[in-house]
Amino acid sequence: MDESIRQALTNWLEFYRELGIEDFYRRRTGTLAGAESKPRPAAPLAAVSERPSVEARVDARPARTAVSPESARPVTSAPPVPPVQVPRTAVAAAPIRPPVASFSLFETPVPKPTGPETLDEIRADLGDCQRCKLARGRKNIVFGEGNPHAELVFVGEGPGADEDEQGLPFVGRAGQLLNRMIQAIGMKRAEVYICNIVKCRPPGNRTPEKDEIEICSPFLFRQLETIQPRLICCLGAPAVKTVLGIKEGITRIHGQFYDFAKSKALATVHPAYVLRNPREEKILREDFEKIREFLKGK
Ligand code: URA
Repeated sequence: MDESIRQALTNWLEFYRELGIEDFYRRRTGTLAGAESKPRPAAPLAAVSERPSVEARVDARPARTAVSPESARPVTSAPPVPPVQVPRTAVAAAPIRPPVASFSLFETPVPKPTGPETLDEIRADLGDCQRCKLARGRKNIVFGEGNPHAELVFVGEGPGADEDEQGLPFVGRAGQLLNRMIQAIGMKRAEVYICNIVKCRPPGNRTPEKDEIEICSPFLFRQLETIQPRLICCLGAPAVKTVLGIKEGITRIHGQFYDFAKSKALATVHPAYVLRNPREEKILREDFEKIREFLKGK
């Protein structure tokens, strides 16, 4: 097959794979399936490199540094609303442009706030979101729940089956453990705010993928900017990476305080991880004690 035709077909396959359509060609032609099973070219689609990477967004975020709660000073840097735009087309500079018309919802850009906004306004902007492939498998969007003036915000990974069913964050087994931890430090769930880095359930509860996080996390950052809590508690590595841009293992960095705009942020293990590894509950308990101590100080 002519190399340029092969490349064009590979680009089409890549495009559909990004939309989560895997079987389409395999069923029809063996030749194309063969092309699909080839190793992915290093940079097959110009748009992939044009997209703002997670790292780029991290750079756009307010600087974060590890600080002790005692030495923590209020930070007055710009609000953490990363300038992420959903790419206008999935294959902007590919040799052949696939017919994007029927997927126009995927092109809906994430609106940028122009000033202070309420959580209801952010929820309204989110709408019946179809911006990423998670929309297809969800029952309910899980926007977040709790006190809009919370001093403490928890950021998890993404809704599971129970959360998807009810449209509320952390209502399954991990949520029950989180509730117990919140009570253990003398607080009520209704006092805090709870949300996730992605608002729709990833299939099979897998970790959210980079493109999903890139598209969804601006809404999280807007929520954080609106609430301006004193402390953000990141539950698990994906939340830590998304909010703070830290890739180190959570067992190394948990319990430390970081600056995040006008807030402080602390990382701890995800309650679901503790359910799978009950011995690690002491990490969660210790970190929650730090949260209690931090919130006690004014
Ligand atoms: N796990 C999460 O990360 N978030 C939820 O909302 C529930 C479970």
